[in-house]
This record gives sequence, C-alpha cells and structure tokens, in this order.
Amino acid sequence: MAAKNNVFTDKETINWFNASKALNVAKQGLTNFLDTQLQNVHAAVGRSCGNCPIEKLIPCPTNPYCNKKKRNYCPFHKSQKPQPCPTSDHVKQNIILQHRYHGPSWRNTRAENWAQDYWEIGKCFLPPDGYSHVCSVQESDFNGVISIMLNCLYFQTCLSLSCLSPPPPDKQCPLEKVIQFKIKSLMHIQYCVSFVH
Ligand SMILES: [Zn+2]
Ligand SMILES: [Zn+2]
Repeated sequence: MAAKNNVFTDKETINWFNASKALNVAKQGLTNFLDTQLQNVHAAVGRSCGNCPIEKLIPCPTNPYCNKKKRNYCPFHKSQKPQPCPTSDHVKQNIILQHRYHGPSWRNTRAENWAQDYWEIGKCFLPPDGYSHVCSVQESDFNGVISIMLNCLYFQTCLSLSCLSPPPPDKQCPLEKVIQFKIKSLMHIQYCVSFVH
C-alpha cells in the first residue's frame, strides 16, 4: 500500500508524467504545421496512378520485406506480384529521395491512396512499424510527428539545419535522457518554427 501511495510523490514518476504531458502539448502545437507541410510534400513527390499497392512497386526480393523461407513463396508479395508502373514508380523514387536515410517505411503506407491522401505519403517517413493504422497527423503520437520532421528532407526548407541534427542524448539514464532529448529537439524546432511565418 505504501508503494501505491508513493507513486504520485516520487520525483521520477512526476517527471515522467510532466514529460509525457509536455510531449502531448508539443505534439498538439506541431500538428497544424506538419499537416500543412505534408500537403507541400505531397505536391513535391508528384501524383501516382492511384491503383498500385506498395507490393506492386517493390521488387522481390527486397529486404526486410520479403523474408523468403520457401523458394517460390514470398509472404509480402503473396497478394500482388511486382509490376512496373512508370507513374507510381516515379512517386516512389521521389519519396526515397526525400527520405534522409533513403529507407522509407513502406510497410506503413497504402500506396494506392498516394494520389488523394497526403498522410499516406507522410507515413513513409514514420518509424518502420506500428503506424499503418494511424489515419492522420492528429492521430499520430509525438514520436511519429518528430520522426516525419527529422526523416523528411523537405523540412530542411522550413527549419534550420541545427534543428534537424540535435545533440546525442546523455547516456546516464536512457529513458529519462531520451525524453529530455526529444523535448530539447522539440523546443529547438518550435523555436525555429516561430520564425517560419
Ligand atoms: Zn517479395
Ligand atoms: Zn501505378
């Protein structure tokens, strides 16, 4: 019981709650900015045909998607074989060029919706997994928002380079330092965003 009562007075726990609240507030603050800029990214990468799913646009085998255990069976391509589509391939290439590490998160995105939904383009810049069912910037978490801004080179045109290369986190306490690192990066970015308009 004592442990239960102490939960909300423990300094580290309070720090954790405050950090969590701060991340939430920060995410809310960045949502409109990211939403608007993703529409510009959408225009910059061009218009796909609107029919090709991502499986069709990725050759087989491609790591890490085609984890082939059987020689003639690929779980990733089981519903759709790779097939060239100049229009959609061009958009795909442009997304790769816009990605800081040239490794878009293809598993998150529904390429057949690229033509009409800028968020499906944005999802290519999220962490590799876990965001396929997130439907909008508003639904995304802080980690998703910050990942897009750091991974998509387009944001170099509206944020200063120093915002996009934050210092490495302190190694003493990984969890706390990661949060502080994110908050610092974010404050830096918010500071820079205030000069955008
Ligand atoms: Zn495959
Ligand atoms: Zn196509």
